Amino acid sequence: MPMYEFKCPRCGSVTTELCKMGEKGDELSCKECGALGLKRLISGFASLGVSGGNGGGNCAPGCSGNCSGCH
Ligand SMILES: [Zn+2]
Repeated sequence: MPMYEFKCPRCGSVTTELCKMGEKGDELSCKECGALGLKRLISGFASLGVSGGNGGGNCAPGCSGNCSGCH
């Protein structure tokens, strides 16, 4: 099964889940705040090769900007 990253629309926490193909995250809940309806991130190119750091609310608390621990 493929792995997808899901982002919580409420707190911005990113969760990686093994999902069935086509899973959109609507029925997943955030592990951090419990909000339902996570948003699936496009994987494969989103995390690497972004110059200048991506930040912008996508990072976990404590991320120094290289996102090695949060994406
Ligand atoms: Zn959350």
